[in-house]
Amino acid sequence: MDTIEKLTEIFKEFPGIGERQAKRFVYFLMAKNSDYAEGLSLLIKELRKDTMQCSQCFRFFVSPNLKKEKVCEICADKNIDSSTLMIVEKDSDLESINKSRVYNGKYFILGGLIPIIEKNTNKTVRINELIKKIPNEKSLKEIILAFSLNPQGNHTDFYIRNQLKDILKSSAIKISSLGRGLSTGTELEYSDNDTLKNALKNRQ
Ligand SMILES: [Zn+2]
Repeated sequence: MDTIEKLTEIFKEFPGIGERQAKRFVYFLMAKNSDYAEGLSLLIKELRKDTMQCSQCFRFFVSPNLKKEKVCEICADKNIDSSTLMIVEKDSDLESINKSRVYNGKYFILGGLIPIIEKNTNKTVRINELIKKIPNEKSLKEIILAFSLNPQGNHTDFYIRNQLKDILKSSAIKISSLGRGLSTGTELEYSDNDTLKNALKNRQ
């Protein structure tokens, strides 16, 4: 494989990027001057250095004092409502909801949606981490499943409810899903504030 092919393969792994777009990225980089590529590769390196993953919600965050902080600023916020835990697919979903300010509870990033035909689910999403976390959340009253409204999102919703059935059976913790207010096919991260507010109000 030559360098163009190698880089194309890497870009193809990016979310939503196909072969043709990946190749366009590579040609775009070649057309730019060398400072551009230099700057880009430096930023990629720093991204690994300056960020870490929150031990509570699993989001990636920039930590000013990297060695000490293991918990992100959202999870560390004393004003957060710890009676609700919202499960989202990915970092960008959390970011959209957090920015919209319609929700003030805790988060958990599942790390993906579950494909309808999938065997090794435990390896692709953080279901074990979620199951382990729930008993430690002493003031938890409600789990809100907040996935995009598409077949994979619905399947994931169903799957999580099923997986949590046993540990929720003996507790007073409710489980609800966003849905009403989001129209079919809606990507959570691109929803506007009013849509998110409605979806949250009409959760069931
Ligand atoms: Zn966090």
